[in-house]
Amino acid sequence: MFRKVHLYLTALCTCITTAILIVMSLLYLYLSEKELYENQYRSFQNDMNTIATSLEQQSVISMEWLSKMESRGGYTFYALDNGIPFLYNRLAAVSDFADTQKLLEDCLAFYQANFAVSLADHDSDSAYNTCYHVEFPFNPTGKKYEYHISVIELNRGTSSLQLLILSPLDFLQKQITKQRVRFFLIDIAAILLLTLFSFFFTGKLLQPVIESRRKQTEFVAAASHELRTPLAVILSAAECCRNADAKRQARFLETIKQEGDILTSLVNDMLTLSASDSQRFSFHPAPVELDTLLINTYEAFEPLAAEKKLTLTVTLPEESLPLCTADADRIVQLLSILLHNALSYTPEGGRIELALSHKKNRFYLTVSDTGIGISAEDKKKIFDRFYRAEKSRSVKGHFGLGLSIAAEIVRLHHGSITVNDRAGGGSVFMIILPG
Ligand code: ADP
Repeated sequence: MFRKVHLYLTALCTCITTAILIVMSLLYLYLSEKELYENQYRSFQNDMNTIATSLEQQSVISMEWLSKMESRGGYTFYALDNGIPFLYNRLAAVSDFADTQKLLEDCLAFYQANFAVSLADHDSDSAYNTCYHVEFPFNPTGKKYEYHISVIELNRGTSSLQLLILSPLDFLQKQITKQRVRFFLIDIAAILLLTLFSFFFTGKLLQPVIESRRKQTEFVAAASHELRTPLAVILSAAECCRNADAKRQARFLETIKQEGDILTSLVNDMLTLSASDSQRFSFHPAPVELDTLLINTYEAFEPLAAEKKLTLTVTLPEESLPLCTADADRIVQLLSILLHNALSYTPEGGRIELALSHKKNRFYLTVSDTGIGISAEDKKKIFDRFYRAEKSRSVKGHFGLGLSIAAEIVRLHHGSITVNDRAGGGSVFMIILPG
């Protein structure tokens, strides 16, 4: 399922980034081509201005001068002297148009249709020596960039010279095509990279979801497993109860009650963790006296310890302590979990110590015991849900959820919880809370 989501997210991510990339590239290409074309047109107009000015200043237009101008700008000149063409054969060299005459006719027709009127206006008040010129793009085959044309009209008294100058734009077209191909290749490479990036990026994004899903599945499996045992005991005790005499019935009912209590505590622990996962964990921090909390907890557990033939002690600092911002009920729950464990995993005659100290703006709460201890391997896992060390599996009513809840409580208080070996055997749980 996650594989499908991963591929779907990769495709979505790639599509969106590709669409943005393509739009940006097209926009850039459009602007860049427009600028290239405008620069070319402007430079052509400037050249034509220069040519028109020097034509005006010359009394005789020589072939040599025209050839020089042609080769300098890559232009082709065609001239009509008093309406008679005298440079016609030159066109054949530049145009890929099969019929160069047709190109010329089309060009002149286009000029006549669009610009001759305005020049005729100039002619109407013609002076002895006048020179007009007009530039325009000309695309006879309908492609985008074919020619820039300039028509220069030079009148000297009765004689007139009409100069048609063609600037083929195939080099501009080539430049634009080259730029498009380059962009196309860059875009393809970018899309490939984006696909790879999207794949890894969405994979990373999904990782916490996959992890949480895995934990959820494990939790449900472990919870069902833990619920099965007490339920099986309850069902078989109920079954046996039917045909048992009154004395045995009372025993079976007692078993049902005990297993029911175990189930209740397990379900409560599971609800607590589920509330914590969905951020519904009730948590109301307020200034509290930790030493008072410790004494109350000690007093509540002392009879239990005595019943198990264990010595429970509490050590508090002599000086008065500042108030700690904490949820008193949760701190009691935390200490109860640790003390329950200590009572469960410490053999008769052992000692359990509850201690509190305050240093450098931090509260240090420790619960140490002289019990069975925890191996280095188990120390890494005991805060995981439903984890129980091998040697403590036989202890009834323990499902491996206590320390997970303890860790959640400490996390909510922005503190830390660690476990270490106690010198001489046993374990020491230390909680550090910000003061
Ligand atoms: P449980 O309800 O099984 O005690 P916890 O989450 O409280 O679950 O503890 C997880 C495991 O850590 C226990 O099953 C036990 O193996 C180990 N453990 C916890 N506290 C102690 C302790 N004081 N001494 C030895 N082992 C402990």
